[in-house]
This record gives sequence, C-alpha cells and structure tokens, in this order.
Amino acid sequence: MPLPVPKLSVVIPVYNEEQVLPSLFARLYPALDALGISYECVFVNDGSKDRSVALLRQQFQRRPRHTRVVLFHANFGQHSAVMAGLSYSRGDYVVTLDADLQNPPEEIGKLVSMLDQGYDYVGTIRQQRQDYWWRRFLSRGMNRLRERITPVRITDQGCMMRGYSRSVVTALNQTREINTFIPALASLYAMNPIEVPITHEERYAGQSKYSLYSLIRLNFDLITGFSVVPLQLFSMIGMAVSTLSALLVVYLFVRRIVMGPEAEGVFTLFGVVFFFIGLALFGIGLLGEYVGRIYAQVRERPRYIVEAVLEAHDDGALEAGDASPLLAAAAITDPGQAIAR
Ligand code: UDP
Ligand code: MG
Repeated sequence: MPLPVPKLSVVIPVYNEEQVLPSLFARLYPALDALGISYECVFVNDGSKDRSVALLRQQFQRRPRHTRVVLFHANFGQHSAVMAGLSYSRGDYVVTLDADLQNPPEEIGKLVSMLDQGYDYVGTIRQQRQDYWWRRFLSRGMNRLRERITPVRITDQGCMMRGYSRSVVTALNQTREINTFIPALASLYAMNPIEVPITHEERYAGQSKYSLYSLIRLNFDLITGFSVVPLQLFSMIGMAVSTLSALLVVYLFVRRIVMGPEAEGVFTLFGVVFFFIGLALFGIGLLGEYVGRIYAQVRERPRYIVEAVLEAHDDGALEAGDASPLLAAAAITDPGQAIAR
C-alpha cells in the first residue's frame, strides 16, 4: 500500500549538486517539520555525474516516509526534471524549489498559506536577486519582451520557487509539450493566481548549471513556446520592406530619366543590402526555432526516462510501482531499507 497522500509535495530538481545537498537537507526538512503538515520531498536527479545520487539515497534512508527520489538515466534539463517531479508528486499542494538554496526553504510556509487561502498558483517575486549583473540585465529584457508578446503575465519569470494547487498540477501533467517553461505554462492554467515577494540568496555552493547557451535555449522556449508574434512580426517587416523597396525603385527610375546614369551611393546600397541579408537570415533562424519545436514534438520521444524510483510503502511490500506516464522502471523499497535498482 502506498503511503497516505500528503498535504504538501516539494519538488526539487538536482543536477550535480553534491556540494549543496547536505545543507539543503539540513534546512529543508526542519523548515517543513515546522509547518506541522504532512509532506513529501520529491527529488528528481537529472542525470548527475557526481555523488548527488548517493547523497539522495542516504537521505531517503534517513527519512523514507518523507522522501521520494526519481532517478533519470541522463540529463534532460531542469524543466523536464520538474515535470517528472510533478507527475510523481501526490500532495494537494506542490511547491517547486531549486536545490542550490537560492530559494530559502523557510519561505515555503508563505506559499502554503496562500494556497490555504484558495489561490491555485502562487508566483514569486525575488527581492534583491542574488545573481550576476548580466543575468539580471538579460532577464529584465526577456521579462519585458515576454510581457509584450505572450499572454503570460508574471512579474518575475525566472524564479522557480512557486506554489501550485493540485488542479494546476493535473493540467500541467496533461501537457504533452516537450520543451516548456513551467511557471509560464502554469500561470495560463491558473484560475486564481497571486504573487508574493520572497527572499533570494546566493547559490550556496558550486556553480550555476546553466551555460549561456542553455540560457538562450530556455528563453527561446519561453518566447516561441508561448507566442507566434515573432513570426508574424517578420511578415510585417517583410511587407514594410517590399513597400519601401517598391518606392525606391520608382524613385530610382525617375532619377534615371531626369538625371541620367549615375553610380553614387553604391556603398550605402551595400550597407542597406547587408542589413537586409542579416534580417533575412535571422528570419530563417527564427523559423527554424518553430520548425525545431514542431520536430521535437512530432518525434514523440519521451520527455524523460526514469531509471528508478525510491519510495517507501506502508506495508513494506516490494511491488512494481506506477510506471509514470512515460517509460519507468520503479524500484520500491521498505521504509528504512532502501534498495534500488
Ligand atoms: N538543474 C537540473 N538540470 C539541469 C540544470 C539545472 O535539474 O540541466 C537544477 C539544478 O540542480 C538546480 C536548479 O535546476 O536545482 C536550478 O539550476 P541553477 O541553480 O544552476 O540555475 P540558476 O539558478 O543559475 O538559474
Ligand atoms: Mg541557482
């Protein structure tokens, strides 16, 4: 028999976080115990190559009734890991959190009290964000762009610490989109959203797992996943450019008749042509982004592959677990006696 459904599930993606996990456990569990509600922590190991899995296993053995661990066999990215965590979570409320202690576990209570008040989506606004200046600068720009061209209305898109009600999680679990941006998607599903300010800390240890490349990819997911305005903008620009060049042709033709042949302004012409070639290339690249999204989708590959799940059962029986919506081989363990495949 599975354990009783808890009130709160805390979902945490973990990718090479051996340096922060001990401190995370030391702060997270007491903070949750202090709330006085039933809870489970769902850790999703996103194919870590360091000792993260061993540490998660240890923690599972220490607190089997409050801990579930989903192990991916490779790195599928933070949002896929969170999606897996959501589909394995069982609580009435779900709070997602980063492992690196940038989102203080002590703030979870604030989100829970909002969910208690009947809000189904609790967004967060980081007070004094502790990240590099260039990250803050870029994300301010992306926030503005997203606000303008997508229907997503959230103040601070980058913070993954959020609270969701079961109804929103069910909607997220039904979403088959491969590459997505969970807080934005959830905000579209929410009927009664609210945002609260939370504190933000520096990464406790280790380095950000996002390279500039993966940050750019993530932001493309955010924009192209929620809006086709960039594509439409290109047809608008195309129309404007053709109209202007038609006028230019007429003007040049009249000039040719009135003033005779001339070869002035050749370099200006080069400048103008290069600009438009650049624009056209950007347009093709942008089109590629959308085609790529469609391609990823039509291949219908699983979003992630689960290698094993560590979870305790009430009767201690070893039974085949829920195979998740996607491929999964679940290894079920006795409370206190963790064995995994
Ligand atoms: N993460 C993950 N898979 C990845 C990259 C990151 O599961 O491919 C996790 C990481 O372990 C952390 C969270 O996602 O718990 C946020 O990552 P990070 O702190 O590196 O991102 P940043 O705060 O720099 O945006
Ligand atoms: Mg971080």
